[in-house]
Amino acid sequence: MALIVHKYGGTSMGSSERIRNVAKRVAKWARAGHQMVVVPSAMSGETNRLLGLASELAPSRADKSYYRELDMLAATGEQASSALLAIALQAEGVPSVSYTGWQVPVRTDDSYTKARIESIDDQRVRADLDAGRVVIVTGFQGIDPNGNITTLGRGGSDTSAVAVAAAMKAAECLIYTDVDGVYTTDPRVVSAAQRLKTVSFEEMLEMASLGSKVLQIRSVEFAGKYKVPMRVLSSFTPWDIALDEEAKSGTLITFEEDEKMEKALVSGIAFNRSEAKISVRGVPDTPGIAYQILGPVAEANIDVDVILQNIGKDGKTDFSFTVNQGDFNRTVELLREEVVPKLGADEVIGNPNICKVSIVGIGMRSHVGVASTMFRALAEEGINIQMISTSEIKTSVVIDEKYLELAVRALHTAFGLDSAEVSKSA
Ligand code: ASP
Ligand code: MG
Repeated sequence: MALIVHKYGGTSMGSSERIRNVAKRVAKWARAGHQMVVVPSAMSGETNRLLGLASELAPSRADKSYYRELDMLAATGEQASSALLAIALQAEGVPSVSYTGWQVPVRTDDSYTKARIESIDDQRVRADLDAGRVVIVTGFQGIDPNGNITTLGRGGSDTSAVAVAAAMKAAECLIYTDVDGVYTTDPRVVSAAQRLKTVSFEEMLEMASLGSKVLQIRSVEFAGKYKVPMRVLSSFTPWDIALDEEAKSGTLITFEEDEKMEKALVSGIAFNRSEAKISVRGVPDTPGIAYQILGPVAEANIDVDVILQNIGKDGKTDFSFTVNQGDFNRTVELLREEVVPKLGADEVIGNPNICKVSIVGIGMRSHVGVASTMFRALAEEGINIQMISTSEIKTSVVIDEKYLELAVRALHTAFGLDSAEVSKSA
């Protein structure tokens, strides 16, 4: 029998009825002899509700003392859902105790609203497990070196669960959510999308960073660093399905490439609608341009994603890059005020109506021609590629936003992901 961590998202914890179902499911695992640690999110909508109240009172404050109170506030959502789950488990006849982040303690740095976990003390939790109790640890929160409550960023309970699993050396961390696994792409865009039985940790990391919102990206980084076996599965299956069946459902995130497995070239098509493109036109084609343009952008703490510098003509060139839509106006202003006059560039033009579509797969490492299959599929649909970026296991293109769905569908078909065969057998 093993030590298992379960994590339940806000939707799974959304009502007393659902919390009761979670309790019954956890009780099933505990009765099968497993030592259980459960990490719940706040009930769905609760974190938004709390933060909404704060912004009604102080819409635009941005100092540390305000962020401290936001964490103090937002952490209560998980405290409530954790206590409710412990109560529900006790009502099922399962001894259970809940702890907040500071009681464990889960130690973090002091970056309020986006704190990073530094260490987790496993003694208190282990003592309860050894005494036969199910232990509930609040997701999303911790305590900083000065004893202040911190939170880990939106969606942070995933990271709490993986961090607890790593600290406890759990056999597996099961992330129960409102989807039944990781798909080849968003099933709302491509109805033929397939659930993946396994996905490698590196692919998952790319997919999370490319905008697939199944897991908080930090949780995947954490799982990779500490090699925590992690599975994404549905909390909406009947709680009393056979444990063996449940334990194999969903998508397993793996760390080793299975030799026996016929690797799909591309495992998934990810996309991101929330980027915007900025071009600086007529920049003198001299050394240091990239630095002179992107230096001030980095200093303003703006993340840059895809970058493209055109071939110069008559001593001038164009330089384009993408940023998050939320940073778009700020970046354009900054370039117009600081960079254009200094560089003697012609103008800055922005285009928020773009999106990024990416193919992801560790199979790309050992195969050539994957990118050209991508470009052909897009060409056949008459979709113009504005920018390209590649890494070992992904190729991304920036295209006009209006072609997003067409592009994702075409690529899904071109890489053979529509067929049921793709569900890689574990
Ligand atoms: N309750 C937090 C949020 O809504 C953390 C989480 O659900 O993972 O972001
Ligand atoms: Mg979530």
